[in-house]
Amino acid sequence: MDGRVVMITGASSGIGAAAARLFAEHGARVVLTARRHEQLGSLAEEIESGGGRAVAVPADVRRGEDVARVVETAVDRFGRLDAAFNNAGRTALGQDLHEMSDDDYDAVMDVNVRGVWNCMRHQIRAMLTTGGGAIVNTASVAGLIATGVGAPYVASKHAVIGLTKAAAASYGDRDIRVNALAVGSTLTEMMESVIEQLPGVEQTFFARAIQKRFAAPVEVARAALWLCSDASSFVTGATLPVEGGTLAV
Ligand code: NAD
Repeated sequence: MDGRVVMITGASSGIGAAAARLFAEHGARVVLTARRHEQLGSLAEEIESGGGRAVAVPADVRRGEDVARVVETAVDRFGRLDAAFNNAGRTALGQDLHEMSDDDYDAVMDVNVRGVWNCMRHQIRAMLTTGGGAIVNTASVAGLIATGVGAPYVASKHAVIGLTKAAAASYGDRDIRVNALAVGSTLTEMMESVIEQLPGVEQTFFARAIQKRFAAPVEVARAALWLCSDASSFVTGATLPVEGGTLAV
């Protein structure tokens, strides 16, 4: 990834923060975004003080104009955008859907689907000017099966996989590869808050998995790194499972 310019969303914590560190260790110039200014700023400083290149641009992925600003910053600061890891997301727990409100639905769909939509539109415009790129969208096991989390979350991650395939099909002839990750249970802030609200819920997650443990965020980040790199040059439109075998049994 030496010198490659990579935008990472949801970079203030969890999988996104692990990806920021990992991509920077591999020589990428990282453009970090999330809503939380402080965490984002200190992560960028940490990377720069370790000899890497990073810029933090707080933004809300629900807002197209925010995302446009992040992409513009990548181009102004580093001259181009080579890759993107669209990872920002939020969860919704597993109440029955008849108990949920329109707001519950909108809250999840706006971040998880509109967020990826906003990001890809602006990223692809930038990539088309420099001859291509690679995009990785964070979906979930819940993008392929209904896992007992909330229906809007399941719907949103299925939509992320749909957007991924559609974009891969549209831009294959212009050297933009687009892939998704079907992420399984990973120990991040999001997962910690789920466990806090539903003590013992991890046993439900592990029941299906072959590897009965949480992933560390970096284990997911490594898959994103591979899909953003030339090592995966003949992979596009794919959904890569990174889920300890949950989908295999
Ligand atoms: P996390 O809560 O640690 O990180 C989520 C990140 O998204 C944070 O940086 C947060 O600030 C950012 N974010 C949320 N809403 C945003 C918005 N509107 N605009 C910009 N940034 C926003 O959680 P995580 O587990 O690292 O989640 C990362 C991704 O992985 C999400 O898309 C999530 O759905 C997916 N995922 C996680 C798990 C898991 O078990 N942790 C499983 C499957 C999929």
